[in-house]
Amino acid sequence: MNSYLLYMDRVSKTYAGQRTKTAPVLSGFCLGLRPGEALGLSGPSGSGKSTIAKIILGVEPPDSGQVFFKDRLVSDSKKRPGRLFYRRVQMVWQDPFVYLNPFLPVRTSIIEPMAAFGIDSVRDRQNRADELMQAMGLDPALGSCRPGMLSGGQCQRAAIARALSVSPDLLICDEALSGLDLPLQVDIMEHLTSIRKKLGMALLFISHDRDCTTRMCTRIITFPDSIPFR
Ligand code: ADP
Ligand code: MG
Repeated sequence: MNSYLLYMDRVSKTYAGQRTKTAPVLSGFCLGLRPGEALGLSGPSGSGKSTIAKIILGVEPPDSGQVFFKDRLVSDSKKRPGRLFYRRVQMVWQDPFVYLNPFLPVRTSIIEPMAAFGIDSVRDRQNRADELMQAMGLDPALGSCRPGMLSGGQCQRAAIARALSVSPDLLICDEALSGLDLPLQVDIMEHLTSIRKKLGMALLFISHDRDCTTRMCTRIITFPDSIPFR
């Protein structure tokens, strides 16, 4: 287990409403993700991909099994992981408006996590936000615009820049590019891969689109015939 950044050990999950009729969403699911690795999670809608992301982040408790991050148990319902875990693991969902305040310039939303964790001086945060926008293919001049003035793709670039601002060890993208046109997806994936390699950050890239996961990741777990890890 020592070489894993994230390790899920025999995780099972059935949602309360389903107990009588359906099979568990997850049954003895195992996953090992190494530092700096890009791992894809692919499978049809409803196969349990988002449930895995939610269990890692503690949004949903597992019925059984454990989740370890850097060898520390983070799935203990009695003792939640500390603040540092939520800096080390960042998440991007499909809807960028979960992260971008509609009333504030996008640069402010990108800076917000850095300010919350007390990273850098005010000026350095501004510079880092601009560097990250650039690295994600978003013109820093757009940083002063509100999200409503930007396209969906530009907002998602900003949402990813925001997640990267705190230098996470792991970024989880759950269908983060699924609403976008293919050329846009490809461009964002190329920017993200380049910055991911530069930062040495691990990625858990969840998508129903296997082509996307293949492009982004060196290893892919496919549902429902999951091969836990090699
Ligand atoms: P995916 O991300 O692969 O589309 P999900 O993890 O979102 O799959 O969902 C897996 C299954 O669990 C689906 O059948 C879904 O309807 C069900 N499910 C997800 N969340 C809940 C919930 N909060 N309550 C009841 N059932 C749920
Ligand atoms: Mg999902």
